[in-house]
Amino acid sequence: MQKGKMFIISGPSGVGKSTVLHELFKNREDLYFSISATTREPREGEEDGVHYHFISVQRFQELIDAEALLEYAEYVGNFYGTPKKYVDRAMNDGKDVILDIEVQGALQVKTKRPDTVRIFIAPPSWEELERRLTSRGTDSPEKVQKRLLRAKSELQTADVYDYFVINDSVENAVRELSAIMLAEHCKPADRMKILSE
Ligand code: ADP
Ligand code: 5GP
Repeated sequence: MQKGKMFIISGPSGVGKSTVLHELFKNREDLYFSISATTREPREGEEDGVHYHFISVQRFQELIDAEALLEYAEYVGNFYGTPKKYVDRAMNDGKDVILDIEVQGALQVKTKRPDTVRIFIAPPSWEELERRLTSRGTDSPEKVQKRLLRAKSELQTADVYDYFVINDSVENAVRELSAIMLAEHCKPADRMKILSE
């Protein structure tokens, strides 16, 4: 069986990553979403073990000490990290793994696993990003401004990514993501492995 591939999706908070990924995952048994650990408080509607593993700072430090995280980073006052075990298990089961992580974490993963494919999702405009962050209604005006500032610095790093998707409509963004993932499976190195099996 072919091992799955790892895909990183990064992009500013509020750009629509969760929304687009939710659509992408419909009827896709071949994909695995990596559930991150975070010290941030759950938003309304978020479930522990579904959207994130919501844990304390102390527990997060224990995971770092045990080298249980593939990568981790601090983002606007909270810690976020990718548990290694489940990602490796899913890839060994032949599933493509998707990590929704910010740019520092993406850099750490690329260093450890150079064959990871990185996709940056951008908003159609800054005004639209601010509108989405505000309309989500989960962050105070002060937090929205912090997330917007962070978004501008994140965009500076986007040129090291392999692909750039603009989330104008969810449908378009999902179509582009699916096309990128499919194309990555058509690379000669992968296809020739199938022949030699
Ligand atoms: P992220 O996961 O990147 O932080 P969300 O998926 O939570 O972002 O989306 C932020 C807000 O933007 C949500 O209210 C969502 O419904 C809205 N949204 C997402 N994609 C689009 C889009 N293409 N057009 C309009 N609104 C969108
Ligand atoms: P949010 O609080 O909006 O859910 O996420 C804030 C940021 O943290 C987003 O850019 C998201 O991609 C990122 N993030 C979520 N999980 C992880 C993770 O495990 N590692 C890293 N490095 N970033 C993450």
